[in-house]
Amino acid sequence: MVGYLDAMTATMSVAGSWVNGGARSTTGRPHAVVNPANQETVAELTLATPADVDGAVAAARRALPQWAGATPAERSAVLARLAELVEQRAPELVTEEVRQTGKPLRLAEEFDVPGSIDNIRFFAGAARRLQGQATAEYSADHTSSIRREAIGVVATITPWNYPLQMAVWKVMPALAAGCTVVIKPSELTPLTTLTLALLAAEAGLPDGALNVVTGLGAEVGTVLAAHPGVDLVTFTGSTAVGRKVMAAAATHGHRTQLELGGKAPFVVFDDADLDAAIHGAVAAALINSGQDCTAATRAIVARDVYHDFVAGVADVMSTVVIGDPMDPDTDIGPLISLAHRDKVAGIVARAPGEGARVVIGGRTPDLAGAFYPPTLLADVDERSQAYRDEIFGPVLTVRPHDGDDDALRQANDTDYGLAASAWTRDVYRAQRASREISAGCVWINDHIPIISEMPHGGVGASGFGKDMSDYSFEEYLTVKHVMSDITGFAEKPWHRTVFAYRT
Ligand code: NAD
Repeated sequence: MVGYLDAMTATMSVAGSWVNGGARSTTGRPHAVVNPANQETVAELTLATPADVDGAVAAARRALPQWAGATPAERSAVLARLAELVEQRAPELVTEEVRQTGKPLRLAEEFDVPGSIDNIRFFAGAARRLQGQATAEYSADHTSSIRREAIGVVATITPWNYPLQMAVWKVMPALAAGCTVVIKPSELTPLTTLTLALLAAEAGLPDGALNVVTGLGAEVGTVLAAHPGVDLVTFTGSTAVGRKVMAAAATHGHRTQLELGGKAPFVVFDDADLDAAIHGAVAAALINSGQDCTAATRAIVARDVYHDFVAGVADVMSTVVIGDPMDPDTDIGPLISLAHRDKVAGIVARAPGEGARVVIGGRTPDLAGAFYPPTLLADVDERSQAYRDEIFGPVLTVRPHDGDDDALRQANDTDYGLAASAWTRDVYRAQRASREISAGCVWINDHIPIISEMPHGGVGASGFGKDMSDYSFEEYLTVKHVMSDITGFAEKPWHRTVFAYRT
C-alpha cells in the first residue's frame, strides 16, 4: 500500500492503524467500511486490539519530549505545511469523506474539507500565541511567572458525522500545544483520519506525534480512555457514550473534554422575517441529512405565524433532492447506516401515537441505501420521544409558543445545551434570548454557521470544554506558576509564621 489516498474508486485495503509515523497492520477482526448510499464496501481493514492501543500510546509517550520541546514556530510550521497538503489533496479527501459517510458532495466540498483546512491554519497561528498573566512581584519578596506547558499524551475519540473535521478540531489544538495524540475514529468512518495522519507525516510531524487506531468503541475506545499512559481524554459523540468515556477516564483520574449530543431550539418570534426563518429552519434541520449535533430540531414558533411557518417549511422541504451523494445536485444523501435509518424511522413512526402530526416525509423510501426523507412533525407533545431525544436525522419538530416567556421556557426545556437560535427583528428580544437560552452558542437570525476563531461546545448534557478557537487551545495546556525568591535571605520574613528565629 502506498497511501490511503490511492484507489479511491475501488475497494481499498488499508491498515487499521497509523502508529509511530507509518501504517501498521493490526491483529483484530476484519472490518468493512461501507458506503451507506449503496451498501458497497469502500475499504477493508483489520480492527485494532487493546495491544495495538498500548503500542500507539507508547509511541505517543516516546514522541512527547521532542514535540513538546519544539519551539512554537517549529510546531506552527508543521501545521501550516499540513494545511497546504490537505488543500492540495482536497479532491481526494472529499471523495473519501463522501464515500464513507454518504454526505452530499457539496457539503464535503464547501464545508467539511475547507473548514478543516481553515481550522488547521488557525491552530498553526495559535501555536505561537501562548497566553498567561504578566510576570510580576505579586509578593514583595518573589517574582511570579506563568508557564504554559503541553498537558502530555492526548487520547481522542471521534464520531462518524464529520469525521475529518471532528479529528481536526481535536488533534490540531493538541499538536499546536505540543501534545502528542492517539485518536480513535469511528469504525464506520476511519479513512479521512488515517489520511490526515499520512499527510501530517508528509508535513514533517515527528513519528509518534499523531497515531490512529481504528477499533470498536466498547473495546478499543474504552481501553484508550482508561489507559494509564494518557493525560487527557477528549471525546466527541453521544451523551450516553460520553458518560462511559468519562467513567473510563476516571480510572486514572484523567482530565476530560466532552462534546456531546444536542437538541437545538429554533425560536421564532412573531416579528421575525418569516421567509428567512422558514428557509433557515429547513437548511439548519437538513444539513448533513440532520446528522449534526447543532442541527435545528425543535422549532418553537409564535402562535400567530405558526400555521404559515409549518406550511412554508413543508413547501421548501418538498423541493429538497434526495439521492446519490456524489451527484452535485443532491441536497441530502443517506443516513450513516441502515441501523441508524431504522432508529430514525422508528421514532417518527411512534410520533403520531404521541400526538404529533406528520406534515411531510415520514416514509422510508424503497432504496438500497440508508435514505430517509425530510420530515416535519407538527404539534409535538413536550413529553414525546421525538421532542425530547436526539433523533439525528432529517426531522424537524414544531410547536407553537404564546409569547416571549413561554418561548424561552420551551427553548430551555431540555437536558441538552449545545446550540440554539432566535429569530426576531427586535434587538431587545434578541438580547434577552441570547442571555436566557442555556446553550454554548446562540445564533440570532441564523442557525449553523461556525468559525475557527470562536468556540464550539455545550453545557448540561451536551458536555463541557471547547473545540475551535483559543479556548480550545487552552484545553491542551497546563498552567504552571513559577515563584522565585528575590530576597536572597536564608531567614525569610514569612518563616516567623512557623517558627521564631531566636538568636
Ligand atoms: P457515539 O457516541 O456512538 O460514538 C462516538 C465514538 O465513541 C465512536 O468512535 C465510537 O466508536 C466510540 N465509542 C462507542 N462506545 C464507546 C465506549 N463504550 N467507550 C469508548 N468509546 C466508545 O456517537 P456517533 O454515533 O459516532 O456520533 C453521533 C453523536 O455525536 C451524536 O450524539 C452527536 O450529537 C454527537 N456529536 C457531537 C458533536 C459536538 O461537537 N458536540 C459533534 C459531532 C457529533
